[in-house]
Amino acid sequence: MTPTVAKSIWILGGIAWFVIRYPHQRRSWKTPIRNSARDWRETILLAASLSGLGIVPCLYVTTGLPRFADYRFSAELGWAGTLVFALALWLFHRTHADLGRNWSVSLEVRDCHTLVTAGIYRRIRHPLYAAFWLWAIAQALLLPNWVAGPAGLIGFGTLFFFRVGREEQLMIEIFGEEYRAYMRQTARVVPFVY
Ligand code: SAH
Repeated sequence: MTPTVAKSIWILGGIAWFVIRYPHQRRSWKTPIRNSARDWRETILLAASLSGLGIVPCLYVTTGLPRFADYRFSAELGWAGTLVFALALWLFHRTHADLGRNWSVSLEVRDCHTLVTAGIYRRIRHPLYAAFWLWAIAQALLLPNWVAGPAGLIGFGTLFFFRVGREEQLMIEIFGEEYRAYMRQTARVVPFVY
């Protein structure tokens, strides 16, 4: 593997993610929102995640900037990143299939929202966020640049840690004891660990 191939894999991964998400995005536009916790804070968090997983690495793969942060590419890390990206895409696909119409890009509850606790949601409460963590790890392995590589971990990590508690609070407000019981049976992103 060469740095160019690794960059191309990062781009292809991004395109595949878009293809997986698009039909769900369209369907979510058509499903009315019943309860929204989307505010300026959410907008900042979404912008942080978009910058880290999208804008900064995009600038790097298209222009090579910032060059001062380049380091030597390792083919082994590139292959590992490819595997991790493939796993992330599989998890994205499974998550969207199981979450169905309940998916939102932000903190929202939709009309006829149901609590999903089966399928990929059986052991972890946040498989979609687990998929984004894998994407961020894959990016760090694929892009040999100290800014563009870890940008996803920082950008998505900011969204995750500032959002996850609020999201669980929202789910408790809507589903009460049912969600509390579900929390007792599951981990957040790593089965049995966290
Ligand atoms: N945090 C989840 C879902 C992300 S999508 C994951 O990582 O897989 C964000 C929306 O999903 C939130 O606005 C919330 O309304 C909804 N949501 C989160 N967990 C849910 C669940 N178990 N069942 C149904 N909807 C859920």
